[in-house]
Amino acid sequence: MQRYLFIDRDGTLIQSPPPGGQVDTFDKLHFYPFVITWLGRIVRELPYKIVMVSNQNGLGLPMFPESDFYPTQNFMLAVFKTEGIHFEEIIIDDSLPEELSELRKPRIGRMAHYINNLNVDLKNSFVIGDRLTDVQFAKNLGCKAFFLNPENTRGVGELTDTVEELKNNWVALASTEWEAIYKYLKNYQPQ
Ligand SMILES: [Mg+2]
Repeated sequence: MQRYLFIDRDGTLIQSPPPGGQVDTFDKLHFYPFVITWLGRIVRELPYKIVMVSNQNGLGLPMFPESDFYPTQNFMLAVFKTEGIHFEEIIIDDSLPEELSELRKPRIGRMAHYINNLNVDLKNSFVIGDRLTDVQFAKNLGCKAFFLNPENTRGVGELTDTVEELKNNWVALASTEWEAIYKYLKNYQPQ
């Protein structure tokens, strides 16, 4: 069975834009520290495929046209590719939080092809993200989470479980360091 890492984008692969903002120009594009080093080692050394799962609020609306989003997105992907980091799938939801779309993380409406695929080992897969909504997403999928920004409280309005339930039962590791994720996975014994 194939194991996966479902990886958030903003705040996880690249640094978060300011609240309410988007990464829509190159001066806002900053890679998360050492992500290229450690994610590169993960994909080269360990048996995981990687999928990007990102909410991009209102992508395609006049305030955030696709022509502003894709130049930085494509540049980021090209940089990862030079280090052997290839995302098997890139899942982007463009709805707004208030729409409560089933397709928007932490809901799992875009994930049926993983959930219903007997060749996908969800139990030994992980979500990597910087918000509690990523931990909620992990629980909804049946994975554990790597929580990259344990002090972050943004997005709590979109949770369906309590913060305690998520932090106590669905976080495999809370750390701000990608190196810690690599070390955890290197030593991980699948169940
Ligand atoms: Mg994020």
